[in-house]
Amino acid sequence: MTRRKTASIVLLCLLCVAPTNYAIGQGGRDQNSGARRPQDYRSRNFLIHTDLAKDDAEALLQKMETMLKIISRYWGAPNRKTIECYVVDDLEYWPAGSLSPGVRDTVRQGGITIAQGSRRGNQFNLNAIVYASNSYGTPQHEAVHAYCYQTFGVTGPTWYAEGMAELGNYWVEGDTTVTAPDYVIQYLKRSPHKSLEEITDSRQRTGDGWQNYTWRWALCHFLVNNSNYYDRFRPMGVGFLTGRPSTFDRTFASKMKELEFEFEFFVDHLQRGFDVGRCVWNWKARYREQKGTRPVVSRIRADKGWQPSGLKVVKGKEYRFSATGMWRTSGDPEGVSADGGPGGTGKLVGVLFNDYQLGRPFELGADGAVTAPDDGQLLLRCRDEWDQLSDNKGTISVEWMSGENG
Ligand SMILES: [Zn+2]
Repeated sequence: MTRRKTASIVLLCLLCVAPTNYAIGQGGRDQNSGARRPQDYRSRNFLIHTDLAKDDAEALLQKMETMLKIISRYWGAPNRKTIECYVVDDLEYWPAGSLSPGVRDTVRQGGITIAQGSRRGNQFNLNAIVYASNSYGTPQHEAVHAYCYQTFGVTGPTWYAEGMAELGNYWVEGDTTVTAPDYVIQYLKRSPHKSLEEITDSRQRTGDGWQNYTWRWALCHFLVNNSNYYDRFRPMGVGFLTGRPSTFDRTFASKMKELEFEFEFFVDHLQRGFDVGRCVWNWKARYREQKGTRPVVSRIRADKGWQPSGLKVVKGKEYRFSATGMWRTSGDPEGVSADGGPGGTGKLVGVLFNDYQLGRPFELGADGAVTAPDDGQLLLRCRDEWDQLSDNKGTISVEWMSGENG
C-alpha cells in the first residue's frame, strides 16, 4: 500500500523578544508613503512581498542572495527552488486579510517559516514560506530555515537549526570574524556561561527566547571557524540534514575537554572582530623543560593568539629569555621589538596553561628573566587588542634558558 503523507505542515518560529535598550536600525524609511502597499520583488532565488521602500527591498534581496550563496556552499547543496518571503516593515501597510491573524502577531516581533508539502520516506517535496519582521535580520534567519526545508526536507535539531540560521543572519562574505550585533555580544559576556551540554540539549524547542539563540549562534560560529573542530562539525551537520544523524556528544567525544576549553576562551574574549581562526589552540605542540646548554626556542607570530613556546616551566624556577626580530601591530612601517611600543602594544606577553586552565597573562619583553608563577606550558603572544590581530605582521624568535643553566 502506498500511503502518501501529505500536507505535513512544519512550523518554525523565531520569537524575537526585543532587547529593550537596543535601537533597531530600520534605515531609509520613506516618510511620505502613507498609501504604500506591499509590492513584489524578485531576485535569482527569492520572491519577496514587502512594504519596504524599493531601495531597501532591493538591498535586502542582495543580502539574502549573498547569505544563500554562503550557506549553500557550506552545505554543498545549491538552492533549487524560489524562496518566497513576506517581509513586514510596518504592519499598517498590510491590508486586512493579506496576512493571517497568527502570522500578523508573529511578524510584530520575529518570524516564522511554514513548510508544506509531501514527505514519503526519504522523498519529500516541500515548499517553505517565510513571514518575517524586517528587524534583527529575521528575514535572513528564516530564509536559512526555508532553504533547509526545500533542499533537505528538515532543518536539524533545534540548537543546530537555530544556531546556523543566526550564523546565516550575521554572515558577511569574506569575513570570518565575529559580526554579531552588540546586544548579542553584550548578553553573552554578561551572562553566566552555558555548558556545551546545555546549549546542545535535544529537548530544546524553537522560539524559546532570543537569549538561547545567542548561545546557539556562539557555538555554531565557533565550530564553523575553528580548524580543530570544523572537519567534524560540518559532516555532523550535513548528517543532520541528510538523514545520517549523529549527535554532538558522539561527534566530539574524543575532543570534549579541548572543545570546552577553547569555547570558553572564545566566549571570554568575545567581541566584534574577534577571529576564531587566529586563536586556534595548538594541541599538538610539544613542550620540554630546558636542560643543559641547548635553549628552547620559540617562534611567535604577531597575527595570532596564544602560541606554544615549547617551554615547560616549573613553579618558582627562574627563566631567562632573549627575543630577536621585529613585528608590527598596525600600519606603522617601522615595527617594534618584543619590548613593544607606546601603551605596551606589541610587547611579548606570556601565559601558563595547566590541566585545561589558563593562568593570568604576564609581561615579558625583549629580554630579561621571569620566575614561573606555577607549573605549566608557556604560551606567548604579541600584545594587541583581540579584534586587531589581522593587520599584524612579523615573527620574532625567543630563546629560553632556565636560571641554573648557562
Ligand atoms: Zn529560527
